[in-house]
Amino acid sequence: MTMPVPRTKFHARYTMAHHDDGYKFKFFCAFCDYHYTTGWIKSESPTEARRLAEAEARINFNGCYQCGRWVCNEHYNIEKMMCVECATHTAR
Ligand SMILES: [Zn+2]
Ligand SMILES: [Zn+2]
Repeated sequence: MTMPVPRTKFHARYTMAHHDDGYKFKFFCAFCDYHYTTGWIKSESPTEARRLAEAEARINFNGCYQCGRWVCNEHYNIEKMMCVECATHTAR
């Protein structure tokens, strides 16, 4: 057994937009086109902006304890706390 993936490590696929007012991020489900778009985040640095964006976006995603992917509610099995793919593989 490998160690469970810590929930704090949010790393969904994302795109970033940038203009004078700051940064805006769009995070995607690992399996589908579901995405969450943050508001414009005022920040000097993209790293800091991304940290704030992740804190905001992660509430809308579910982290799989098995593979560590972050997925939307539809691709998450709440009972097993796994994404649907892992939940299917471990089902008996
Ligand atoms: Zn999804
Ligand atoms: Zn998984």
